[in-house]
Amino acid sequence: MPDTGLYMSAHPLLPAALNAVATASALTRTVQSARDEVAGHTKDDRSPVTVADYAAQAVIAMILRSQCDEHLIVGEEQADELRQDSHNAIRSAVVTIVQRWRPQASEEDVLEAIGTCDHDGTAGGYWTLDPIDGTKGFLRGQQYAIALGYISSGTVTLGVLGCPNLPIDTAMNPAEPDPLACGSLYAAVLGRGAWEYPGADPNETPLQINCPEWTPDRPVRPCASVEAGHSNRSATDDLLEQLNVEAEPVRLDSQAKYAVLARGQADAYLRLPTSGTYVEKIWDHAAGSIVATEAGAVVTDITGAPLDFTQGARLSTNRGVIAAANGLHQQLIEASQAIGLT
Ligand code: AMP
Ligand code: MG
Repeated sequence: MPDTGLYMSAHPLLPAALNAVATASALTRTVQSARDEVAGHTKDDRSPVTVADYAAQAVIAMILRSQCDEHLIVGEEQADELRQDSHNAIRSAVVTIVQRWRPQASEEDVLEAIGTCDHDGTAGGYWTLDPIDGTKGFLRGQQYAIALGYISSGTVTLGVLGCPNLPIDTAMNPAEPDPLACGSLYAAVLGRGAWEYPGADPNETPLQINCPEWTPDRPVRPCASVEAGHSNRSATDDLLEQLNVEAEPVRLDSQAKYAVLARGQADAYLRLPTSGTYVEKIWDHAAGSIVATEAGAVVTDITGAPLDFTQGARLSTNRGVIAAANGLHQQLIEASQAIGLT
């Protein structure tokens, strides 16, 4: 019997992180369901994601500030652009949404909260936040994630992943939005396992999730990005062919891929570089990678090196990501070498 109490008391920042991500999940879901209205109002098809990105970052920064002592955040969004006259319509939509959850907040409070997420990742401890990971999935009405991780001395010690469109039922297709509109919520604490919240409700007692060891008698079930520009498709095909895997990867946006691996619904998440120059960002991997590793999966770059969170805001010593079940991961690394990826 897993010790829920040991996990829940293991990280002082867990309650604030859960509250922040659950609130932002509700907020982004609201913007997504009103996306035609938001786009019409701001006269820009991409604006729903822009509005939701900024508003989620503001609300998370406000909750962390009021509920815990750790306020440094490496966030994806900056406030400078939002302050410009060209962004008047977006700015007013962002403030309106934030005020649904924080009625006392002024426009300046909202801009200030977004602007505080500009830490560079050099302190001993800090948060890293992607308020909407998988923006293309958000716009398509498919998968996206609110990803909040805490990094202490270069190690991810806490991760919370809100996946508002990911069905909690693993019998359902994870690429399709949850027909019950409930979504999923995961958290992991270093050394204390990975956990799923029933009903995506942070107040429910969580259940521990596991990525079972892969054995050769089972088929390999890979997953990868929807966007061809984010992960090399032909290299993925070559790598899977090397292992005699015929299955096409399940394609879904965002760090929901790490959750799907962590809960044993996929055996591998392949993110193979499309160019020699792209450097992965910490907010795209911190929360997801700890959820997967605490569930028992192995997460490295394509050479087999651990993800290195000591380099500030980017994973500058790593290339791509191979995350997989124990028993399969090493074979994928060897295949990656065999086809000349490394
Ligand atoms: P995914 O949803 O897995 O396709 O990943 C979405 C993330 O990919 C975004 O948050 C971006 O930060 C990141 N991204 C943007 N360009 C690239 C690229 N060329 N290679 C890998 N990731 C990228
Ligand atoms: Mg992202």
